[in-house]
Amino acid sequence: MIVSLHVATGGAAGALLRSRPLALLLGPALHLAGDQVPHEDIPDRSFEIGSGLVALGLLAARRGPFDPAVLGGAAAAMPDLEHVVPWLRPHGEKLFHRGVGRHGVGVTARTQLLLAGATVGWLLARRG
Ligand SMILES: [Zn+2]
Repeated sequence: MIVSLHVATGGAAGALLRSRPLALLLGPALHLAGDQVPHEDIPDRSFEIGSGLVALGLLAARRGPFDPAVLGGAAAAMPDLEHVVPWLRPHGEKLFHRGVGRHGVGVTARTQLLLAGATVGWLLARRG
């Protein structure tokens, strides 16, 4: 799944649960679940990181940095850091991405972007 959609689903979970610890715990699980869905990826890494950060930044600006939606969004996006930070996979093995999920088919990148945008928009409108 694209990073911004991970942020959106984690954020929605946090907003609905209204619990910081639950949002933090559930985030990585949601990431794993999301990556199981057959999906297209966006090959542009800086777009991926940038759009994820923008989504998180908007939520933090609107709802405050420690809002459950912000923590949930961050926790759900976190596992993708292992793609970019080498010391998170000291033996070259990824923890959250072990060949799971089908890539290149299924939910298109465009649909994921639309879903992410709609969900983040809903979270921004809804507030804390
Ligand atoms: Zn992932």
